[in-house]
Amino acid sequence: EKPGLELTVVSVPSYACQRHTPLLHHNTILTDALSILAENAELSENEGRGVAFRRAAALLKSLPQEVRGAEQLRGLPCLGEHSLRVIKEVLEDGVSHEVETTTHSEQFKAMKALTGIFGVGAKTADRWFREGIHTPSNLQRSGHTLNRAQRAGVCYYDELNLPVTKPEAVAIGQIVERAVHAVLPGAEMTLIGGFRRGKQTGHDVDFLITHPDEGREEGLMPKVVSWLEAQGFLLYQKTTGNSYLESKEGPARPASNMDRFERCFSIFRLSTDNEGREIQTGREIQTGEGPRSWRAVRVDLVVSPYSQFAFALLGWTGSKLFERELRRWAIHEKAMTLSSHALYDRKRYLRASSEEEIFAHLGLEYIPPCDRNA
Ligand code: ATP
Ligand code: MN
Ligand code: MN
Repeated sequence: EKPGLELTVVSVPSYACQRHTPLLHHNTILTDALSILAENAELSENEGRGVAFRRAAALLKSLPQEVRGAEQLRGLPCLGEHSLRVIKEVLEDGVSHEVETTTHSEQFKAMKALTGIFGVGAKTADRWFREGIHTPSNLQRSGHTLNRAQRAGVCYYDELNLPVTKPEAVAIGQIVERAVHAVLPGAEMTLIGGFRRGKQTGHDVDFLITHPDEGREEGLMPKVVSWLEAQGFLLYQKTTGNSYLESKEGPARPASNMDRFERCFSIFRLSTDNEGREIQTGREIQTGEGPRSWRAVRVDLVVSPYSQFAFALLGWTGSKLFERELRRWAIHEKAMTLSSHALYDRKRYLRASSEEEIFAHLGLEYIPPCDRNA
């Protein structure tokens, strides 16, 4: 018996929303391998397989120690046959053959490059790949007609694939705050998404906006967007109006996982020098025409009515797997439906003005944002 090989874990609950999953954990080598396979499954539109790998990775992220041998995994939930095989391979050989083959495959590389273009999903990328288009430059030379989002995506490709830093997120937050307060005094703005979970970088910056007087938030997004546009902060934006039908019994029950808030998917123009009024982010962007003093940053804005704020906050803080697990827990363990708008116990709408109350309704221990990095 080798000492120190037994994990001190007695039992680990099977839903990610029952566990604390910090950003930094002890099993990165294993979770990186599983994440590649998850990504590959998602790019091949094999959602079920993607979720299985993500669940296995999330389980490993929540363990208090590094896994050194497969025998330590006995009795742990969420580890399917395929994931276990990959984990054992990495533990024994340092690498997994399947992961290596995947990362080096032309299809995986091309699908990653093409879906890395803002506005391009797996379906479109796959169609292009089968036409022999493997890179954004192949695409530009192909003569394909692109939509407005995709044109912006190609135009700012390199920058949008550069991680957004925390100082950049803070600088964007100050701009959005100015916009929001200029068009609706008293409105409140909260940083959501990965940065709220404590991530130091992100692929975008996400904000949730609301107003304590229910109803005042209606139609807010177009005003915020006009203000930002007039000040020259937007390189691209697509705003969607809200589509919820509210009744006396509470917000409409979700027809799907997609939520119905007013929202804006945008690309900001962020100054990186001191000439603008923003914080200096100390970063110089190299372009074909040489360095310039601003960069493009993806920003998502969501507006919610005050009464739905806690649900929107919980639903937009992520991680995506954590959200999925919350909804799965609600349905399978509590016979409830959870969305970014509401929680229903069969027909009954359960009110909540904080995330803590929602966890309590669901019979779950409260998990703070920094531990939702499943
Ligand atoms: P990253 O650092 O890569 O941006 P993130 O966790 O912030 O990581 P996002 O894609 O920005 O990822 O999404 C943030 C959260 O918002 C997710 O947890 C997701 O549940 C939610 N979300 C994103 N897009 C939608 C959408 N179209 N409808 C509903 N919720 C969404
Ligand atoms: Mn984000
Ligand atoms: Mn986002």
